[in-house]
Amino acid sequence: MQRETGFCVECRDVTSYTLQKKLVKKMIRGEELTFEITCAICDRCGEFMSVPGIIDLNVREVDEQYRKLKDLVTIEDIYTLMKLYNIGKAPLSIVLGFGEITITRYLLGQVPSKEYSDVIRNALFSPEYMEQKMLENKDKIAMSAFKKSMTKVNELKSIFTVSNKMIGVISYIFESMDEVTPLMLQKLLYYIQGFSFALNDREMFIENCEAWVHGPVYKDVYNIFKHFRYNGIDDPKFVMFEGYKKYLDDKDKYIIDLVVNTFGQYGGKVLEKTTHKESPWLLARNGFGENVPSNEIISKETIKEYFHELINEYDISKEENVNKYILNLSNIIWGL
Ligand SMILES: [Zn+2]
Repeated sequence: MQRETGFCVECRDVTSYTLQKKLVKKMIRGEELTFEITCAICDRCGEFMSVPGIIDLNVREVDEQYRKLKDLVTIEDIYTLMKLYNIGKAPLSIVLGFGEITITRYLLGQVPSKEYSDVIRNALFSPEYMEQKMLENKDKIAMSAFKKSMTKVNELKSIFTVSNKMIGVISYIFESMDEVTPLMLQKLLYYIQGFSFALNDREMFIENCEAWVHGPVYKDVYNIFKHFRYNGIDDPKFVMFEGYKKYLDDKDKYIIDLVVNTFGQYGGKVLEKTTHKESPWLLARNGFGENVPSNEIISKETIKEYFHELINEYDISKEENVNKYILNLSNIIWGL
């Protein structure tokens, strides 16, 4: 607990106070709701104190909790939207079908209705939806503004070339890890697919991977991230993927957590080597020299079979056993 001083009206003196959380009930739009706010308690008499900044903090706390409770966009979400599509407040308002100053009012703190909030969120998570809105209202905004945003729409559409499920998995991985390189992401996706076959008896996503020189690669995913090369993937536009986590159920998340917590501890290069010791990649590489490029598909059947068999050897539903498996593979790789 943080300790600072302020003027206590009860004690008529400068005293130290302690910040504490307190539950309060508030009527908002005809509904009584409970919020957790911060208050200052005098260390000497135990009464509430009004200290500088506390009212602003409480307003912010209630606003944040209300938006979360009602699943409404935040002011920050709206700024992100404007930045992503390179569009100003007024044209954005018009394009979304709102009144011209609606977005301005939201940026000043007015809380949007659920209906308008959903429109904003759809635009945030889908460039195709934004495109449709732009075309509907094309004649109502300046041509230059239209063109500027359409360029962004098209740019953003190019990161949505994979299935919704794949985007959801990628977004979940981004959320779970501090840094992911494109190579690492590829290997994690491959293991996630394999573990899903083995433990959930179903594929995680529809995409097929190819047996490239550096291991299994999902080509469309590769194209989205290739410009990051050997660096961590980092670009604010990938916030757009977050809406796709809704395509994952608890069983999917269990698989992703399992793979991220085990394989995710290793670098992309190590995982490249482990995939080189497993039969799915080896079978698809059959007949190709070590450094010969190939677009041969690693069939889902071979992935399914391989990881199914792993269950008999290791109980791979548990992290410790997956770690054992990785350790055994690395021993083979480095001849230990
Ligand atoms: Zn006091």
